[in-house]
Amino acid sequence: MSLPKIDNLELRKVTEDILLVHQIKPPYYFSCCDGLIILPKKGRNSKTIILDLNIEPDLIDQIDYLYGPISNYVCTHAHMDHMAHIHKWESLGAVIHAPIPEHTYLLDLYNFYEGFGFNKAMDFSVVKKFGELNGYQKCDNISPFNPGDILEFENSIIETIPFLGHSKAHIGLFLPKERIIHISCLGFDQRKPGQDGFGPWYGFDECSIDQYLKDIDLAESIFLEKTDFLTSSHSYIVKSPDIIPFTYIREKIAKNQTMVDQAIMSLNPSNKPEITIHDLLELDIFFPKSKMKGFMLEIYNYWESGIISKHIERSEYLK
Ligand SMILES: [Zn+2]
Repeated sequence: MSLPKIDNLELRKVTEDILLVHQIKPPYYFSCCDGLIILPKKGRNSKTIILDLNIEPDLIDQIDYLYGPISNYVCTHAHMDHMAHIHKWESLGAVIHAPIPEHTYLLDLYNFYEGFGFNKAMDFSVVKKFGELNGYQKCDNISPFNPGDILEFENSIIETIPFLGHSKAHIGLFLPKERIIHISCLGFDQRKPGQDGFGPWYGFDECSIDQYLKDIDLAESIFLEKTDFLTSSHSYIVKSPDIIPFTYIREKIAKNQTMVDQAIMSLNPSNKPEITIHDLLELDIFFPKSKMKGFMLEIYNYWESGIISKHIERSEYLK
């Protein structure tokens, strides 16, 4: 089977009947993520299944034209880059499955606002604007499941693996028969081998670095023991037993700790014991916020304060 050419989409074969799809140019930073297409296969699934492929509506139409009808869609968590366009898959007839408790964010942006704690830091109008910019539209119906549940569509089996360090619903997807693990947003974001990216994301209150480290261990053991291929929401396809993804994510967390530790030292904690998050935010450790303004500045300040506070808890310099 040769793969079709679609403008602005990159299709790659993971196996003969499972594709990894990437939107090349997102219109906005948090509007898209890569996902998998499980093509129909005799004795397994008679209709196409889509796993966490949040791309723009016109591209979804083209996938549907080529590979439809689509029976089921599985969302891995309700961060904006994983949910903005799911409504489009629903409009084409797919049943939408999303993990509890974030499934409600797909139904109403206000749930996203409250659920991720934006309401403690900013007005809803800020998040509304953020949603509009990324093309968010709500879904009508969601079929919820618990992280850890096994989903079965005809004879296609999809094990959901809780990786809750990233968000309280975040799951990876393990396809035991196809020997693939999709680690979603665990933090491997190299588009090509060796390329650098932001790495793991833990900017909300509910995120946890301790949990992240456990999730990385779990993902690594499933990858090495039970699969041949690893895919993720923002990376190339990795073949077992290449453990680059896990080394990369662990090193990123350690490097982030070093950056926060050095920032604390630069503010001279011995003379100034009361270092505040605000002092650290002004240093632009993670994001170039001095170049931002308006609602995006509010959002990035909120995220960066979340990341910094997790490293302050782990810092040797403030104990
Ligand atoms: Zn995410």
